[in-house]
Amino acid sequence: MNLISIPAFDDNYIWVLVNDDRRCIIVDPGESAPILTAIAENGWHPEAILLTHHHHDHVGGVPALRAEFPHLVVYGPAETQDKGTTQVVEEGEKILILESEFSIFATPGHTSGHICFYSKPYLFCGDTLFSGGCGRLFEGTPAQMYQSLQKINALPDDTLVCCAHEYTLGNMKFAASILPEDLAIQDYYQKVKELRAKNHKTLPVILKNERRINLFLRTDDIDLINKINQETNLQQPEQRFAWLRSKKDNFR
Ligand code: ZN
Ligand code: FE
Repeated sequence: MNLISIPAFDDNYIWVLVNDDRRCIIVDPGESAPILTAIAENGWHPEAILLTHHHHDHVGGVPALRAEFPHLVVYGPAETQDKGTTQVVEEGEKILILESEFSIFATPGHTSGHICFYSKPYLFCGDTLFSGGCGRLFEGTPAQMYQSLQKINALPDDTLVCCAHEYTLGNMKFAASILPEDLAIQDYYQKVKELRAKNHKTLPVILKNERRINLFLRTDDIDLINKINQETNLQQPEQRFAWLRSKKDNFR
């Protein structure tokens, strides 16, 4: 399978997995125009849509795609039932699409019903994990999001993390503000600045690299613990995650 990202809105990506016979799977089509153009240009045959959560910038293109391709199967969590989902999926389920098996993980936090789709090595994580950051907590608690990120962090090193937004530059600016002396963070921040200056994509990312530069995956890191200890004393990793998330919420 071939992995392709189609930009949508200001900073969304619609991910597409294409088979050798040009049949394809579309992930989180927030709007239909860019993906319909790509389908026509490339001669793709869409078979399925995967939805990670109910937000408009992830599901807005579903009605137009279903009108154009009535056979499409749309997989999504219960919270997307009124957004065009034809088959509700949940934690622990495995589904077979284009001869590939996808596992479903529940990853509440950004929304209550948020799910991720994993088909080795691809992880479609919507607005749960971003490169250098994680989704905002609109519906869930910090403890839920912490557990969701732990699930992702348990996947193999070579996992290709396909996030739904190009937020990497802002996330690394934040990371560098928290741990300015961290070489892995500084190096990646520089690299991302260069990529974005040329308008290049920073995604997908490899989970092995993400573990080194994403503070939200480093809640047991001694440098981060020392930094937090300058302000407050937090014993639990969930509490350190919550501290980090609220810092990011207020970061400009
Ligand atoms: Zn969202
Ligand atoms: Fe989003």
